[in-house]
Amino acid sequence: MNMTIGVLALQGAFIEHIKMLAELGVDAVEVRKPEHLDDLDALIIPGGESTTIGKLARTYGLLDPLRSFTQQKPTWGTCAGLIFLAKRIGRDQPLVGAMDITVERNAFGRQVDSFEVDILIEGIGDEPFRAVFIRAPVITHADEDKGVEVLAELPEKGIVAVRQGHLLGTAFHPELTADCRLHELFVRMVEAEKSTEGA
Ligand code: GLN
Repeated sequence: MNMTIGVLALQGAFIEHIKMLAELGVDAVEVRKPEHLDDLDALIIPGGESTTIGKLARTYGLLDPLRSFTQQKPTWGTCAGLIFLAKRIGRDQPLVGAMDITVERNAFGRQVDSFEVDILIEGIGDEPFRAVFIRAPVITHADEDKGVEVLAELPEKGIVAVRQGHLLGTAFHPELTADCRLHELFVRMVEAEKSTEGA
């Protein structure tokens, strides 16, 4: 199926997402201005620094366009992108506020800058996924009564992957490994959404 996926390219690891989508044969475009959202089927918000992404999004007039986009079209936030998509993070910074989740930034402490761990993720098969966490957040609460599904958890740490209908959120960086399965899952979500459009 033909589709175009945008990657928010204000700051952070957007190039890696674009490369991974290209490997899957998907057209990927960089999004920096509100008009770049026109005609997209879906959007990925990358990892980076959520305060910077939020401030730049406000400066470029992207906050409201992103809020309406995420109401309608599949959107996936990774790491800082997950923070930016959350409704609650317990501090004041610009957010899209699309997902009914509570996220704690830098949840693994300053000592643990980054680490990798194999996790099982619902919806991508039984093989463990090598998850790369970089100053990562954790999801401390997912509103399951609002349709948020938990896809992966780290024992004793918390939730690290969720889906809420057409929205996907991961606390780690799937674009920094060679494993395409989460990108494939997102592409399937976009295909499913497109096939119901106009139905
Ligand atoms: N610590 C960053 C933040 O709070 C997220 C880190 C990342 O995206 N790898 O925004």
